[in-house]
Amino acid sequence: MARDLTTGDLLRQVWGFDGFRPGQEEVVDAVAQGRDVLAIMPTGGGKSLCFQLPALMRDGVTVVISPLIALMRDQVRALREAGVEAGALTSGNTEAETEAVFAAIADGRMKVLYMAPERLASGGTVTLLRRAGVTAIAVDEAHCVSQWGHDFRPDYLRIGDLKRTLGVPLAAFTATADVETRAEIVTRLFDGQPPVTFLRGFDRPNIRLAFQPKNSPRTQVLTYAAARRGQSGIVYCGARARTETLAQALREAGHPAIAYHAGLEAEARREAEARFQTEDGLIVVATVAFGMGIDKPDIRWVLHADLPKSIEGYYQEIGRAGRDGDPADTLTLYGPDDIRLRRTQIDEGLGDVARKAGDHARLNALLGLAEATGCRRRRLLAYFGEEMAEDCGNCDLCQTPPKLFDGTLAVRKALSAMVRTGEWFGAGHLIDILTGTTTDKVRERGHDQLPTFGVGREHGRGQWQAIFRQMMGLDLCRPDPERHGALHLTETAHPILRGEEPVTLREDTTKGAKPANVLRT
Ligand code: ADP
Ligand code: ZN
Repeated sequence: MARDLTTGDLLRQVWGFDGFRPGQEEVVDAVAQGRDVLAIMPTGGGKSLCFQLPALMRDGVTVVISPLIALMRDQVRALREAGVEAGALTSGNTEAETEAVFAAIADGRMKVLYMAPERLASGGTVTLLRRAGVTAIAVDEAHCVSQWGHDFRPDYLRIGDLKRTLGVPLAAFTATADVETRAEIVTRLFDGQPPVTFLRGFDRPNIRLAFQPKNSPRTQVLTYAAARRGQSGIVYCGARARTETLAQALREAGHPAIAYHAGLEAEARREAEARFQTEDGLIVVATVAFGMGIDKPDIRWVLHADLPKSIEGYYQEIGRAGRDGDPADTLTLYGPDDIRLRRTQIDEGLGDVARKAGDHARLNALLGLAEATGCRRRRLLAYFGEEMAEDCGNCDLCQTPPKLFDGTLAVRKALSAMVRTGEWFGAGHLIDILTGTTTDKVRERGHDQLPTFGVGREHGRGQWQAIFRQMMGLDLCRPDPERHGALHLTETAHPILRGEEPVTLREDTTKGAKPANVLRT
């Protein structure tokens, strides 16, 4: 009987694996002990095993809620091949498949039952599950319960009820590590009772990290792809129209490339996914709609032609590269237009003020990564709660350390301009004040009379733009969603303003600011 075997025995005998992946064993143990568990594991970290293996160690059925029919089918097939009784109830089932599932439940053979969240909407399902002898619930892609995430699935909100009704332990899995989403998962899936939480294994050392200011994106994309001819890659864009034009440009340069976005017909999307999965060296130029459920191990590179929405989005999207563990390369382009677009999207999006403020902070975290002064991986992992003993050596900043300068004075001047004007203005106007530029707005508000007027003439506008960007990257200030992007100080800024802490800034992004980028931050 499986219950007499250790987790290690099962791992070898049923899955044929030699050992656990980092972090896997602790999660398996906690789930096997019947505790409520929230595991935040990176994509490809091997989370399915964390609920499948414990399912073999207990009596009864483990029901798995998963949002993707294709993935459910793959997992059911793999389990059955390994000799585990598994099935799925999805809208894609044939009648015979569904009957086989019911039969296996009825005679007590079923061990792992997959189900789309939509199934929970029917009262019959809950009755069925109660009769089936469900002894545990596993939730895949648990962040789908978050109303604010882009993967929100309303039926995920029913899972909390299901747990309550069945009175069984629940294990939730996600690759989304952001603190707010985590809190929402705890509220909605666990009734606010904190589960045992695991967060680990976020490092993907084979993925090289790099950022570049966006000067001429089309040329930058073509140059990057030309250096990687014949390799599978993904170009992520912020807008649908751009996927089409960039795919076209890549084709004209002789690359096999296709566009992919949510506006395509379902058929065209499936076709694109299938081509990407099977064809060697294909480039997909896509919006973020492309990715969930893509399981191609040999994606060699990911290029962000536009700044992602958040540091979580960035991490998930680059994480699609190099799943086979071989070296993979990533590059993210960012420019003032991207930042402005993302800010506007936040301000004009749904959600209350607290939510928007949080989104601005998350975007700041990504800017901080873009204009980091040292090892990017250290910074990225720190955001996810992991510490690195040494710099990674596999990011652009480790390989070419940037020139730094003492930005304390400049930052103090900028912060004091913010304070003197009541935190009511955006970067543009503050820069007018700092550089002593007498615009109508400056004159009308009497800001040419401020002591800070003209105190920053030693830097040009472009340099000031870059300083403000870096200040946001350090989360010293944030745009206020209620005040049309007016900047306000955060707690972090106070010791600097008081002269108690120094600030180090990057010189290259400051000195290198191109005139074309300058006017538009
Ligand atoms: P995800 O966390 O993205 O759901 P999966 O559960 O699909 O990841 O696992 C990713 C891949 O890693 C799968 O091919 C799986 O078979 C493999 N895998 C999982 N655990 C181990 C292990 N302990 N040893 C070797 N391979 C593993
Ligand atoms: Zn590094």
